[in-house]
Amino acid sequence: MTNNSIKTLLIKPIFICCLLMLPCFVYINAAMAAVDPPRENPVPGGIAVVPISKAHTITPPHVTYNNKRVMVLDGRFIWYAVVGIPLGAKPGQHEIRIDRADKKTRIIKFNVEPKKYKEQHITLKNKRQVNPYKKDLVRIGKEKKLITNAFRQWSTNSPSETLFKLPVEGKLSSSFGLRRFFNEQPRKPHSGVDIAAPKGTPIKAPASGKIISTGSYFFNGNTVLIDHGQGLVTMYCHMDQIGVKPDQIVKQGEAIGTVGMTGRVTGPHVHWSVSINDARIDPDLFFMDNIETELVKAEKPVKTK
Ligand SMILES: [Zn+2]
Repeated sequence: MTNNSIKTLLIKPIFICCLLMLPCFVYINAAMAAVDPPRENPVPGGIAVVPISKAHTITPPHVTYNNKRVMVLDGRFIWYAVVGIPLGAKPGQHEIRIDRADKKTRIIKFNVEPKKYKEQHITLKNKRQVNPYKKDLVRIGKEKKLITNAFRQWSTNSPSETLFKLPVEGKLSSSFGLRRFFNEQPRKPHSGVDIAAPKGTPIKAPASGKIISTGSYFFNGNTVLIDHGQGLVTMYCHMDQIGVKPDQIVKQGEAIGTVGMTGRVTGPHVHWSVSINDARIDPDLFFMDNIETELVKAEKPVKTK
């Protein structure tokens, strides 16, 4: 047998083998692009990660929770619904609805556990920001609609990252979910985290996305909202400078503006909200540990002699 015929004998089966394995490589490659869900904590203001199919179908199922479209992530061999639970949700049994292609629906139940958030009492010198004037209320109403619409943004692409980077390096001045009192009057719970930093400190996108809108609002001051895909939306408030425009694509870590003290504030900070299926949830769930630890890790050591 010649060298050439040995080569032909060997190459042919290798070639056929490669051809046969091609779909496997394509599948593995596609699976590699899968995004891990954020950390689960099924409490009001948290996230429930619910497995929704026994087998992996090609297209993701259509899932809703309280009539709102829910994020579905590719868990490599199974689909996961990533459900944002509103702060006002009652503990107990909740359900998601799956609308199948054959027009049949399936209900999956999941449990929401109780969580008691701490109280926070804030004194504001500007009384108008506690009890706004009549004309302010008209403005506040219009702005609320704009912001709600932005939070209800839906785009089919999956988020590129569910492990966030800090939007600002500073100090955690107010955590998520606090039951708030302004000048001793009860108000809505804190729907985000506040990170205090000097005016002008850059604010960076914690994950890649597309700018939904920018604006200057009565309570929120200069504000930017980012769509990260499948209903994951983040909001940055009280900014000094806004450095982006609607529809602009931003990468993880890219600057979107600077820290300021516009709107209802007692000092320079960014109010940062994270929302899934229009439910404001604890941003901690998008970090390995929690924001406070991340902020301490990011702190630059003070030089001593
Ligand atoms: Zn805040």
